Parts: sequence; structure tokens; C-alpha cells
Amino acid sequence: MPSCLFCRISAGEIPAKAIYQDADVVAFEDINPQAPLHCLLIPRKHIATLNDLTPDDAALVGALHYRAAQIARERGYADGGYRTVFNCNADAGQTVFHIHLHLLAGRRLGWPPG
Ligand code: AMP
Ligand code: ZN
Repeated sequence: MPSCLFCRISAGEIPAKAIYQDADVVAFEDINPQAPLHCLLIPRKHIATLNDLTPDDAALVGALHYRAAQIARERGYADGGYRTVFNCNADAGQTVFHIHLHLLAGRRLGWPPG
């Protein structure tokens, strides 16, 4: 999707601070971090919102979560804790319409979220 910011990051057309990438998943630092660790994990496949998932995407979403857990562990946050979040559409505050999993860690995170 040429006009999509995260498709362009996935393609290397827009720079991002890479954390991890493979054939299906890219992880990079959030440009406006809300915690000492705040990264975004995206599928290379363009999927606008969680509402657009198909049964074939289930493994891909699992891969995003698995990779988030690996990154949290590598960065030393597995035991202390961390949060993963998908925002979907306006009421959740989704601003980029290519699904992305937020991984936040390194400070005490409030609950419920705002
Ligand atoms: P959301 O509100 O869930 O759609 O989250 C979008 C996230 O993308 C926000 O946390 C932004 O700070 C982040 N973001 C926007 N543009 C960029 C960019 N060019 N590189 C990295 N993160 C970005
Ligand atoms: Zn996209």
C-alpha cells in the first residue's frame, strides 16, 4: 500500500530505528516513546485494523506477540513486566491504519489505560 506509513517503513522507504525484522514481521522504536522501551511490531502485510483480520492472519498476529515477548526478554523486562497493546479505530486512538502492536516497558504502567 504505497501511501501507508508503516508499509513504507517496512519497505525501507522511510527510516526507523530497527529492532528486529524477518520475512513477516518488523519491529522498530516508536517515534514518540511513552516508556523507556516503546516499540511497534508490524506485519509486512498491510492490514488496516484488527477488524480486517482473516483466519489466515491468526499465525501472523501470534508471531507479533511472540516477537514482542522475545524483545521484552532480551531487554530485561520479562520478569518486571511489560504491556502489549493493539489500538483499533477511533475510540481506542488508532492513528496509523496498518495494524501495529505496541510494546511498552520500563516504568510502572497505569491501569485502566486512559
Ligand atoms: P496508534 O495511535 O495506536 O495508531 O499508534 C501509532 C503510533 O505510531 C504512535 O505511538 C506514534 O508515535 C507512532 N509513529 C507515528 N509515526 C511514526 C514513525 N514515522 N516512526 C515510528 N513511530 C511512529
Ligand atoms: Zn500498510
